[in-house]
Amino acid sequence: MSARILIVDDIEANRKLLAAKLEAQYHTVLLAENGPQALEIAKAKDPEIILLDVMMPGMDGYEVCRRLKADPVTNHIPVVMVTALSDTEDRVRGLDAGAEDFLTKPIDDFVLNSRVNALIRYNTVTSELRQREASGIRAGAMESVDPEEVDRPARVFVIDDNPRTSARIAGILRDAGHKVMTLLEAGDMGELATERTDVLLLSLLSKSFDPLKLCAHFKSNDVTRAVSILLVCDPLERARAVKGMEIGASDMIMAPIDRQELLARIRTQTRRTRYVEILRERVDRGLELSVIDQLTGLYNRRYMNNQLQQLMHRAVMGGKPLSVMMLDIDHFKPINDTHGHQAGDEVLQELADRLRQNIRPMDVACRPGGEEFLVILPETPGELAMAAAERVRRAIAAEPFLVMSDTKSIKVTVSAGVSSLLGPHDTIADMMKRADTALYQAKSGGRNRVESIAA
Ligand code: GH3
Ligand code: MG
Ligand code: MG
Repeated sequence: MSARILIVDDIEANRKLLAAKLEAQYHTVLLAENGPQALEIAKAKDPEIILLDVMMPGMDGYEVCRRLKADPVTNHIPVVMVTALSDTEDRVRGLDAGAEDFLTKPIDDFVLNSRVNALIRYNTVTSELRQREASGIRAGAMESVDPEEVDRPARVFVIDDNPRTSARIAGILRDAGHKVMTLLEAGDMGELATERTDVLLLSLLSKSFDPLKLCAHFKSNDVTRAVSILLVCDPLERARAVKGMEIGASDMIMAPIDRQELLARIRTQTRRTRYVEILRERVDRGLELSVIDQLTGLYNRRYMNNQLQQLMHRAVMGGKPLSVMMLDIDHFKPINDTHGHQAGDEVLQELADRLRQNIRPMDVACRPGGEEFLVILPETPGELAMAAAERVRRAIAAEPFLVMSDTKSIKVTVSAGVSSLLGPHDTIADMMKRADTALYQAKSGGRNRVESIAA
């Protein structure tokens, strides 16, 4: 994983040292020696991470950070404040300015790499979301992410077998307004599944269970896969932390835990989890939008063709029958002409409801277009498909349709054509053609009836 990283520091020796360390890990480095230059480069070159010195003449690091976060062009770029060793005051100010993380001078290689790698992981989620966001806004389909939603208090699950450190971590997080659950052993994880969790804080110092195994378990479990895992690691056992990151942890923090560092990482990892969730919801919705007919909620033509293909394949493989019923509303044009297009639309919706109520759950009801409907009937031989179509026809003709807030009562009938798959050499196109021919016969035979073509 390599990234484009902007180093901001007023002292040349510091820039050079940091650049050498990052280049050794195959990252691309951009350099700025003061605040205004940093803002300029951040805008023009869109770095993936910014390492920002706090102490600089003129504009200091906090001010640079505030400006980066206030500008919509740069506010997505994670900022790591580079501060003097253990200066708590600096860190609080950095957090307030919107920084994602801290590094303390002198910079340790391992700590630097873990910071950069954690933020690269974070970026893969946020950049995916921003891309979708950009196209979603263009399509006018999706509202943008609400920052309040992303930054509300977190729900953190602390898993540490040491009651003292566990209580201390919980205390820090609760003081900051987060909701915390602690678990001293890897026993009952039931609650994890029942409530939404933002971050799993897993201590690698735990001895009563294998934390790495647990980490792998969380990453392979559907309920917890999306949740960010923050590892607490022993500075003397760095290899284990690296292993944990390989297994899928999102970030790590060294023991003994620094309060500000913990709060910063919880915040960033909480955002990550929420971005993943938002992404997932949008992908689901995007998929749904692309296969569902918006007027009736039935499947559209694209999904219909896809399902026909799959069900045909399954029918041939399994030697089971497959049938389709094609429906077309009788004299629909006069309905539109007499009662208006809106009434016509409501007729289509009511028809879709009656259709759904009169088929089996496994049947696939589609509206390929206009006033035509098609139901795919898996594992159904021709005579049962005929019976099903007859049931649907009757359900539609039985009662007039009440539309336009029940002000109009319209008599609606449909004609239907039924056909079935004839064998392994038959094709979808041929089956559909037979259904179409059968439908035509139903129309010319007087409408409000069902016909089939056997071969
Ligand atoms: P037939 O019994 O022969 O099928 O006669 P028909 O009038 O139903 O058939 P025709 O194909 O002549 O007319 C279909 C009408 O369906 C014309 C079109 O305006 C209308 N239509 C197609 N899609 C929609 C829609 O989404 N909403 C509404 N309200 N009308 C639609
Ligand atoms: Mg028609
Ligand atoms: Mg029609």
